[in-house]
Amino acid sequence: MLKLDEKITFGTNLKCLKCGTTYPLQIIYDCPVCGGILDAEYDYEKVSGQKLLMNFEKARSIWRFKALLPVRKHLSIVSLSEGNTPLFKCHKLGAKLGLCNLYIKDETRNPTGSFKDRPISVALSKANEEGKKIVITSSTGSAGNSIAAYAAKAEMKSIVLVPSCVSSVRSLQIVACGGTLVKIKGTYSDCFRIVKALSQKFDWVNLTSTFLNPFAVEGDKTVAYELNEQLGNVPDWILVPIGAGPLLVGIYKGCKELEKLGLVSGLPAMAGIQAEGCAPIVRAFKSKDSRVKHWDNPETVALGIADPLRGYTQDGTLTLQTIRESGGVAIEVDDETILESISMLARSTGVFAEPAGVTSVTGVKKLVEEGIIKKNDLVVCIITGSGFKDLGSVRKKIEITEEEVEPSIEKVEKILNKKGF
Ligand SMILES: *Cc1c(COP(=O)(O)O)cnc(C)c1O
Ligand SMILES: [Zn+2]
Repeated sequence: MLKLDEKITFGTNLKCLKCGTTYPLQIIYDCPVCGGILDAEYDYEKVSGQKLLMNFEKARSIWRFKALLPVRKHLSIVSLSEGNTPLFKCHKLGAKLGLCNLYIKDETRNPTGSFKDRPISVALSKANEEGKKIVITSSTGSAGNSIAAYAAKAEMKSIVLVPSCVSSVRSLQIVACGGTLVKIKGTYSDCFRIVKALSQKFDWVNLTSTFLNPFAVEGDKTVAYELNEQLGNVPDWILVPIGAGPLLVGIYKGCKELEKLGLVSGLPAMAGIQAEGCAPIVRAFKSKDSRVKHWDNPETVALGIADPLRGYTQDGTLTLQTIRESGGVAIEVDDETILESISMLARSTGVFAEPAGVTSVTGVKKLVEEGIIKKNDLVVCIITGSGFKDLGSVRKKIEITEEEVEPSIEKVEKILNKKGF
């Protein structure tokens, strides 16, 4: 029997992706030697030897996969039952787009309505393990929602900096969960810079959703483990909305781990989708640059991916390299088409997404039209966030009448008749 506080991970250390220096598996941000991004490593031989990656435990959360997550003690885990999201085959939408094997992974089902609950559950559990009491983040909404909720569960304090473009409605849940909200007259990158400085000054844990905190991306990779369970292998294509790109990089890391463990054959091509009004990674991909440069004036309805990367372009470069390594692509989509895809997805599948969350579907249409994705390819679009989180943006495209009808059966019948019934 496994005791509750027993060591539960096969995580061994952090390693700098740039200079190779290794560090213990503790909270540390950029590499102290060279400033590079840190990556968690595991003892894969032991994992495959004991065959305990899958269903290690019956927990209905990402913590089923704790052997490959970087938290040492069971009691440190902070979970709201994140992950285990459904994968739907989309017959109707697939037919419309000319695809025989189109699936969506519905991340809107997570506790706070976005996939962010996966990385935050892991990074906040790590903070909990180290006895930290205050966490801070920059956010365009989703990460803040998630952090406020998980901090509440762990009895920690949370501070969330959001840029001007984030509406008060989008931030309500943060405050409801007891988070401290500060709105900054600036972009996501301004919030990022201030959060980084304050976190260093006061030793608050930085949970910003970039590659700065090396533990967050470990939560993202659980999407790959679930896809493998649901499909029996990894797909040909995975389409991911990207800001800095930890979700995309995490999913690809998860796929590579599955390959290392002999559980899958082959790897997917990764497609990163950005909005036309903020597409630093796509710009570098198209011009065949080896490095990503920051974006000047982010402007898009897809708030969750409006990340100009100012001051941390190496994060975008890691995502760019991952996309290229996978044989994938980075493409941009425009706001008008993003908003149209919200209804297109909802009407064909019943899944209601926010603008950033649906860009994977907007992107699949474009990639089929361009002949990059083929008819029989097995394609998974990650739907990253719920429409309920950003009703203001959704409303820009969906007409709804304010007119009220007299409470009479005849009048209602007449109206419905006009609507084609
Ligand atoms: C954060 C976010 C993204 C982008 O994920 P990254 O891992 O930061 O690239 C996409 N969609 C939604 C809804 C998000 O909240
Ligand atoms: Zn280094």
